[in-house]
Amino acid sequence: MTKLSPHELHTLADRLAHRRRDLAARIQAGTADAGHDNLRRAGGDPGDKSAEVQQAELNLTEMENEARELRAIDQAQERVKNGTYGYCVECGRPIPYARLEAYPAAERCTECQTRHEGVRGGRDATPSL
Ligand SMILES: [Zn+2]
Repeated sequence: MTKLSPHELHTLADRLAHRRRDLAARIQAGTADAGHDNLRRAGGDPGDKSAEVQQAELNLTEMENEARELRAIDQAQERVKNGTYGYCVECGRPIPYARLEAYPAAERCTECQTRHEGVRGGRDATPSL
C-alpha cells in the first residue's frame, strides 16, 4: 500500500466536490417539499398509516443518511486541505485506493472500519468494502 499520487488525490478530491454538490442539492430539495409537510398532513388523520406517512418516514431516513454523508465529505475535504486525506484516522495507515475510489469520504481503513462498526453495533455512512 502506497501513498496517493497527486493525480489520484486530485481525482478523489474532484469526486468529493461533485458528490457534495449533489448531496447538498438533494437535501435542499428534500427539505423544501418532502419531509415536514407530509408528516404534518398525515398527522391529522390518526389510525391511518397511509402511504404518505411511509413515504415521509422514508424521506426522513434518506435525508438523515444524506446529511451524515455530507458531514463525512466535509471532513474528508478538510483532510485533503491539511494533507491527511487517504490515511486512516484511527491507525494512520494509508487507505487502499480502491476503497477511496468506491467511497471517497472513507476515513478509516477496512480493518478499522469493521472494528468501528462492531463496537457501535451499527453502520454509519462509511461502508466497508
Ligand atoms: Zn485503520
